[in-house]
Parts: sequence; C-alpha cells; structure tokens
Amino acid sequence: MTELWTVEIDSSVCVGSGLCASSAPECFTLETSGRARPPQAPVEAADEVLEAAENCPAAAITLRKVAGGEEVFAP
Ligand code: SF4
Repeated sequence: MTELWTVEIDSSVCVGSGLCASSAPECFTLETSGRARPPQAPVEAADEVLEAAENCPAAAITLRKVAGGEEVFAP
C-alpha cells in the first residue's frame, strides 16, 4: 500500500519562491498572493515532494505520515 503524507506550509515564512510548485506541481500551487498552497488532501509519498520540502529556501514545508502522524520532514 502506498504511504500517504500530509503537507503543511507555514505561510508566515513562505517567501513565494515557487520552487515547490516547480518541483512538485501536482502537490504545490502558487497562489496569486505569492504564497504557496499545500494540497487539501494527503498526497502519495514521492521523492519530488520530499525534495521540494528539503529545498524550500524558507524552510516552510512540513511533511507527516497520515498513519501515525510521524514527521517525514520538518524544517
Ligand atoms: S519553496 Fe518554500 S518559500 Fe518557495 S513557494 Fe514553496 S513553500 Fe514558499
């Protein structure tokens, strides 16, 4: 069974670089306000989503496993 992650973005620190939306467009959306928006529903675990979190210049992205809530990546 595929692992599912929840994606959180701290909009108070997001600088709107758009890197996350470039690396994982199916997951992240850049809003007209200039901040990134996470998906409303959990996403399937994927390298590009993890890389987007790791490479966020503002360290704004947190990923957690749906099952158990364990952190996959936290800035
Ligand atoms: S990569 Fe980080 S700073 Fe850039 S838009 Fe995404 S969440 Fe915001």
